[in-house]
Amino acid sequence: MVDALIGMEVHVQLNTNTKLFCRCPTLSGIPNTKTCPTCLGHPGSKPVLNKRAFHYAIKFALALNCSIAQSLVFSRKTYFYPDMSKNYQITQYELPLAVNGKVVLDSGKEIRIKRLHIEEDPAGLVHEEISLVDYNRSGIPLVEVVSEPDISSAEEARDFMKKLMSILNYLDIFDASSGVIKADVNVSVKKNNFERVEIKNVTGFKEIERAIEYEIHRQNNEQVVRETRSWNADLGKTFSLRKKETEEDYGYITEPDIIVRQIPKLVIDKLSQEIPELPAQKAERWVKNFKIDSVDARIIASDPQVASLYEEVAFQCDKILSARWVRRELLRVLNTAGVKLSDTALKAYHLIPLFKLLERKEITDRTGQQLIRELAQSPFDVGLRVKNDGLSAVGDVSEIGKLVDLVLDENVQALQDYRKGEQKAFEFLVGQIMKKAKGRAKPDVVRTLLLEKA
Ligand SMILES: [Zn+2]
Repeated sequence: MVDALIGMEVHVQLNTNTKLFCRCPTLSGIPNTKTCPTCLGHPGSKPVLNKRAFHYAIKFALALNCSIAQSLVFSRKTYFYPDMSKNYQITQYELPLAVNGKVVLDSGKEIRIKRLHIEEDPAGLVHEEISLVDYNRSGIPLVEVVSEPDISSAEEARDFMKKLMSILNYLDIFDASSGVIKADVNVSVKKNNFERVEIKNVTGFKEIERAIEYEIHRQNNEQVVRETRSWNADLGKTFSLRKKETEEDYGYITEPDIIVRQIPKLVIDKLSQEIPELPAQKAERWVKNFKIDSVDARIIASDPQVASLYEEVAFQCDKILSARWVRRELLRVLNTAGVKLSDTALKAYHLIPLFKLLERKEITDRTGQQLIRELAQSPFDVGLRVKNDGLSAVGDVSEIGKLVDLVLDENVQALQDYRKGEQKAFEFLVGQIMKKAKGRAKPDVVRTLLLEKA
C-alpha cells in the first residue's frame, strides 16, 4: 500500500485563434477589449462551439488512449463569482468528451485518466486596491484532464505533467510560450486514512510539485480534515479555503443553448489519422530499430523538435553515437543555457559533419564537446572550422611521443608513483599529455605510448 494518493485535474489552454463559444480573439491585451455579448454573458447572446477547439480536444483524448463519447453534451455549472458574469460556466459534467485513458510514466507505471472534458475559462481577476475583472480571458477554450489518484509522489506528478506536455507539443495544440498549465491537486495520506484534501488552482510545473511536497508533509504531521485549500507560492504553504463542497452543490443542468449532437465516427477516425507518431512510440521504435539506449531514446523523443533533429542526423550518421551526443552533450548544453532547440539556429546539417568527424575519430571527444557548445551559441561550418583552426585529432606517433617524453621529464614524482603501481598517477600523466596537446591527441595513442615509455 502506498503512503500517498494524488489525483490531478489539469487545465490546459488550447491554442485556438478564437474563444470557445464566440469569435473574439484569444490574445491578451488591454483589459476588456477582446469581448463581445457572448463572452460577457449578455442576455440573448448565443454560444456557438469553436470547431477547432472541439477537434483539438478529441485529438488530445485519443493521444491519451481515451474512449470518445458518442455525443457531445455541454452543461451549466452554476456559481456566483465576479469572474463569471453570466453566473454559470459552460462545461461538461454528466457526459464528458472522453473517459478511461492512461499515461505511462518513465518508470512504466500507468496513471489512469478518468475523464477529459472541454470547458470555458472564466475571466481573470486582478486584485489591487480594489478588485478588477478582465473579461479578455473569459471564454478561452480549456481542456480539463482528470486522473485517478494513481500518483504517489511529487516526482511522479512532475513526470505525469511532463508526459502531458510532451503530447501537447507533438499535437501542436498548446502554446507553451503564452499558455498556462493549471492544476487542482487532491492529496491524501495513509496516516490520515486517506482523508481527501484538494488544493485549488496551482499554476506551473514547479509549483505543482512544491505544493504536493508541502501537503504530504503537512498531512503526515497534523490532523487532516476534508477540505479545499489554496497554494501560496510566495510563502510555500497551503491555506484552508473552505470545507469541501461536492460537485452536486453546483447544480449542474444541461446547457440549453447548445444542442446535443452525435460525434460521428468518421470525424474521430479522420482526427486519429492526423495524430503523429507520439513520443513513447517513437522512443520504442528507435530502441528496437536503431538499438540506441532506452533513456537516450526517451529523452530525445520527449521534445518534437529535438526528435526530428535526431532523426535527420541519424539518417546519415551512426545512430548510437548520434543519440549519445544529442542527449548527453547537445541537451546538456541547451539545459545549462536555459534555452530550447527552437531558440537556437542549430540544424541537422551543422551536426552531421561534426558527428562524422567523431565517428571517424578525426576529432577527439573533447574537441567535439567544445564545438557543440559553440554551435549552440551560433552555428558555423564545422568542417571549415576544424581545418582552419587545426582541430583535427593528432594520432601521429612521433608527434605524441615527443609530448609523452616531455611530460615524463617534467613529472618525475608521478612517474615513480606509477612504477610503484599507482593507477591514479598514470591517469594524471595522461591528463598532462592531453593538456599539452590542447585536447587534440587521440587518447588511445597517448595511452599506448605512455605504457611503452613509462
Ligand atoms: Zn466574445
